[in-house]
Amino acid sequence: MRSIQMVDLVLQYEKIRTEVDAAVLGVMESAAFIGGPQVQSFAAALASYNGSKHVIPCANGTDALQIAMMALGLEPGDEVITPSFTYIATTEVMALLRLKPVFVDVDPKTFCIDVDAIEKAITPKTKAIVPVHLYGQAANMEAIMKIATAHNLHVIEDNAQAIGSDYYYADGKTVKTGSIGTVSGTSFFPSKNLGCYGDGGAIMTNDDALAAQLRMVANHGQSKRYYHDVVGCNSRLDTIQAAILEIKLKHLDEYIAARIAVADAYDAAFAGHPKLTTPFRAAYGKHVFHQYTLLLEGVDRAALVEHLAKEGVPSMIYYPVPAHRQKMFAAFGGADYDLPVTDWLTGRVISLPIHTEMQEDQLQHIIASVLDFVN
Ligand SMILES: *Cc1c(COP(=O)(O)O)cnc(C)c1O
Repeated sequence: MRSIQMVDLVLQYEKIRTEVDAAVLGVMESAAFIGGPQVQSFAAALASYNGSKHVIPCANGTDALQIAMMALGLEPGDEVITPSFTYIATTEVMALLRLKPVFVDVDPKTFCIDVDAIEKAITPKTKAIVPVHLYGQAANMEAIMKIATAHNLHVIEDNAQAIGSDYYYADGKTVKTGSIGTVSGTSFFPSKNLGCYGDGGAIMTNDDALAAQLRMVANHGQSKRYYHDVVGCNSRLDTIQAAILEIKLKHLDEYIAARIAVADAYDAAFAGHPKLTTPFRAAYGKHVFHQYTLLLEGVDRAALVEHLAKEGVPSMIYYPVPAHRQKMFAAFGGADYDLPVTDWLTGRVISLPIHTEMQEDQLQHIIASVLDFVN
């Protein structure tokens, strides 16, 4: 059996190697390392795929969120409502910009921001909501947009884990996550569902004026060459990464299908087990399984992790410490929050290997190793 990884990027590369190698060599031969034509053509292809009018490539997913918050004109002291149960990047950029992250709890089924908690957290200082489509499961965007519209708030979707996910409105309209809010950010970190071979990210919006602002902020606040209108930053997707992403974008739907097939197999094996809760799939969206995360009940998680490791099965805890309990946020009153669902999940989640190249024998070995321990 091939050794099991959380994500098998080697095998994935082998399948597209000829095309990728030629594209990378082409960039090197052209020496257009920054701002080469592939950056534009990839952005256009992604805009069309995602149904977003504007795609602004940038250096990584963290920058994407930061640039979105800067371009929206959020100012120190402005409150931004966010889940605490997320990767640190979501909330770190708020702190960096001296915004005030207002942590709210998540829904115990979807693990995404609790819509009722949002309403309760709104104050006159609230400027934005940042839903995170965690593990590839969309947040309840229709309800979130309704609240945002009623209170005149921006919505910044953290779409780093859910690119390619479909969202179904109650009236049947289907859109992609990342095209619903005021603006969205995504990441092309290698292990993400659409990953490059280094760092990369993108910001998306349907708003023309905001798109212009986003481009300016991402490029030193420059409106025309050497004229800098606002304080910005330097955040670019390089041409080699864009060339690779252009190839991988064509495979995204099949990559997602492969992930869902793994999730289906896990579900079939674990469904109904008294100690395991399989991931919930909300009817309003298509879960794209960036992670396959089980909830454990009455299982010694650390011992399970150790047992799996001994069996050659990697596993991960996403995330062992929620944002509001990080030292980083002590000065932001993190300790004052009471987020029982977040704490409950933090103690119970475990993510199993899931990727586009899972082999049947690996899958059966992972399933058997989990069941071995919990049965
Ligand atoms: C990966 C990730 C990011 C940050 O992306 P980078 O490209 O690593 O900067 C932000 N938010 C979430 C939820 C992520 O998973």
